[in-house]
Amino acid sequence: MTDPHSFNPSRLPSTGGRSDTRLDHYVDSYAQRTHKMTASAVRSLFSVANRPEVVSLAGGMPNIADLPLGKVGNLLDELIQRDGARIMQYGSGQGELQIREQICEVMAEEQIRAHPDDVVITAGSQQGLDLVTRIFCDPDDVVLVEAPSYVGALGTFKSYQTQISHVAMDDQGLDPDALRQVVTSLRDQGRRVKFLYTIPNFNNPAGITQPTERRREILQVAEDLDLLIVEDNPYGLLTIDGEPLPAMRSMETDRVIYLGSFSKTFAPGFRVGWVLAPHAVREKLVLAQESATLCPPVFSQFAISEYLAKHDWRGQIRQYRDMYRERRDAMLQGLTENMPQGTTWTHPTGGFFVWVTLPQGVDSQKMLPRAVTARVAYVPGDAFFADGFGSRHMRLSYCFPTPERIIEGTRRLGEVIADEMRI
Ligand code: PMP
Repeated sequence: MTDPHSFNPSRLPSTGGRSDTRLDHYVDSYAQRTHKMTASAVRSLFSVANRPEVVSLAGGMPNIADLPLGKVGNLLDELIQRDGARIMQYGSGQGELQIREQICEVMAEEQIRAHPDDVVITAGSQQGLDLVTRIFCDPDDVVLVEAPSYVGALGTFKSYQTQISHVAMDDQGLDPDALRQVVTSLRDQGRRVKFLYTIPNFNNPAGITQPTERRREILQVAEDLDLLIVEDNPYGLLTIDGEPLPAMRSMETDRVIYLGSFSKTFAPGFRVGWVLAPHAVREKLVLAQESATLCPPVFSQFAISEYLAKHDWRGQIRQYRDMYRERRDAMLQGLTENMPQGTTWTHPTGGFFVWVTLPQGVDSQKMLPRAVTARVAYVPGDAFFADGFGSRHMRLSYCFPTPERIIEGTRRLGEVIADEMRI
């Protein structure tokens, strides 16, 4: 009897005596879901977009240049001196109570009333997405998403072999009538629709926000159709014009699973996000979290907890808002000045992104090499659709470059689009 745990090279996939020229010798061994995993368009653009001569309007990295690093360093230093042994230990699978209590205060900014028992800490909201999909979705289940939707969520849903169905948006976000029609028609075909994934604030990539009344209408459809909603809200507090709107979760507690994150309101490197879920779902999430990581990153949780307790985090968010407002204004000004006739774009009131619709006949994917040669980068629209749509669109981010570089980027882009229209 061979030991099932011992490594046996003869069990590696056979090449049938051929000299195998494939790059990946394990290609026949992967699980089916692994074949659904592809590098995101954003990631494959990274090396090009990061060249200094290129104005990158592609990446969505938060701009944390203004974080008071000296102060954060002192806080962490004190924390380690005081509590080092505890904060470098394993912790609770649900996350530390102390930070879960503080997260309830953060969520109150968007009128959510929650109990710390219903919060599960995750390694960024990306892991929240993974855990939610893991506990709800079998292969071929349907997940509904906006058209367009966050590329990282599409990747997660695909990796669990779900079917992704897009629901149309208008200038107020997800269209409730379209939602009703899509769900009804899918159910008539015998499909299992597991949840609607929505980004109500400053949708990534569309830059569109659902007004409060629209949120109510979507919740009403969900109620009528007994549909679960996953509300992803990493940008909600980064409103540029006006005050944050009430979250969907503040209007409905039993039907909404809410995902939050410190990546944009503080810093992404700590990898701390959270899920607020109805009680029964929360228990399943903790089990899934324990099997994925034992516990979410303990050091990071205490670091963020210290930051929230000792730093004026609301003031920091106001500073971030001012910085992004300046960049958003530069982007809108640059687009107005430089885009050729027939190009349209959204007007975000927060977040990081503008969604551009190109003139008829211009394909954003095909145009990209020409744009990079002209030293400007963007993300082609088809990355944000699971069904190949989106070639007339592109996502532009204003979060990272300086206002001057943003305007220069739109100038370069305008020339590239105009050239493309002449071809
Ligand atoms: N959701 C959306 C809509 C995002 O844009 C992002 C980050 N780009 C995430 C989730 C993941 O964020 P994190 O894991 O850093 O919290």
